[in-house]
Amino acid sequence: QSVFGRIDAVEEKVHAYITLMRESALEEAKMADERIRAGQIKALTGIPIALKDIYCTQGVRTTCGSRILENYVPPYDATVITKLREAGAVFTGKTNMDEFAMGSSTETSYYGVTRNPWDLERIPGGSSGGSAAAVAADECIASLGSDTGGSIRQPAALCGVVGMKPTYGRVSRFGLVAFASSLDQIGPFTKDVEDCAILLNTIVGYDPRESTSVPVEVPDYRDFLNRGIEGWTVGIPREYFVEGIDPEVRAAIEQAIKTVEGLGAKCREISLPHTEYSVAVYYIVAPAEASSNLARYDGVKYGFRVAESRDLLDMYKKTRSAGFGAEVKRRIMIGTYALSSGYYDAYFKKASQVRGLIKRDFDEALQGCDVILTPTTPTPAFKIGEKTDDPMQMYLSDIFTISTNLAGIPGISLPCGYTQGGLPIGVQFLAGHFEEGKLLQVASAYE
Ligand code: GLN
Repeated sequence: QSVFGRIDAVEEKVHAYITLMRESALEEAKMADERIRAGQIKALTGIPIALKDIYCTQGVRTTCGSRILENYVPPYDATVITKLREAGAVFTGKTNMDEFAMGSSTETSYYGVTRNPWDLERIPGGSSGGSAAAVAADECIASLGSDTGGSIRQPAALCGVVGMKPTYGRVSRFGLVAFASSLDQIGPFTKDVEDCAILLNTIVGYDPRESTSVPVEVPDYRDFLNRGIEGWTVGIPREYFVEGIDPEVRAAIEQAIKTVEGLGAKCREISLPHTEYSVAVYYIVAPAEASSNLARYDGVKYGFRVAESRDLLDMYKKTRSAGFGAEVKRRIMIGTYALSSGYYDAYFKKASQVRGLIKRDFDEALQGCDVILTPTTPTPAFKIGEKTDDPMQMYLSDIFTISTNLAGIPGISLPCGYTQGGLPIGVQFLAGHFEEGKLLQVASAYE
């Protein structure tokens, strides 16, 4: 009730949600009260959690921020939803996002922009901007997002909350609407690192329904909290401190390095030499996979279909023309081009090869250090509309997060300071595959 009171007070300004689930949430909360009275308490009993509108939720509309799924009501729950339900969570609603998770500002949503709770003139980041804003504005206790090239860590940094992208394969993607299947990963937004560990405990694990989920042992992530990082080596990649980084962000990260040293760790410069290719590689690989994944939206199987058409082909064309927004169309065009015969070798194949080099950079660097420390974003939250006319500028806002997805490693962003104007700044830690525990350890020491 208190969360919905807060939603009533601020949602009109922030617009974090696409769909509110007030009735079912209050009903579930009542049941949680009863369970608590009966002493049946699980990890998330009664905890109000918001969901990016990209997970299939049985009986609740799932739009993915797109007109083409405007009236799509999934007949099943995503695995993460089932897991959260089993842990006792109460779902407050489905949060706003860039259309099909393509964007860095939540401005490509068909359902309007979400505003940054720290400054309503600014974007909350994206694509999981609604999930980040909902946590920052106290419109939920925690939320889930998805991260294909930074969509959890970047909005977490810009909204002053904790956001983690786990290792590719750590969390089942079953029931997550696919954007780029070799990069997508689900993760939590929370107010602090302990909550991040609790949520992670709930959502990770092997899922026989998802072929890329990995059957590796799952620790209790809370065991990594408050252990300190005495004697650790923290790598600072030289390539992340070059052009374009905002002076206030740079100063906050330099301060973060000092804090980490104050905790007894040794910071040393490392090199990730293929960093400069990461944005180019990502914008071949991600649109290529997206163009294939989005072929299923044809007006037949799901959601929106135009009212009038001459024949089947005409219906496809008109439905997709009206159903998808400009950014999604741009990605489909880039992706189909990069995959088409005659161009495949020059673009998709080449990008996949360079992706291998980017992964190798991390593998080699992580042999000499426990974790890597970087800024999460090159700038604090920018103004609404500032980058909408310039896709290249928008793409560059993920310059520090994208290579993580290409390498499949985990990353966490947490608050590390504020600009003079009061905007939050985030620091990012990266670790080797399946080393989420290390990320929580360093983050909880830092926090
Ligand atoms: N901003 C990046 C893109 O537009 C990443 C988005 C994401 O992680 N879903 O593709």
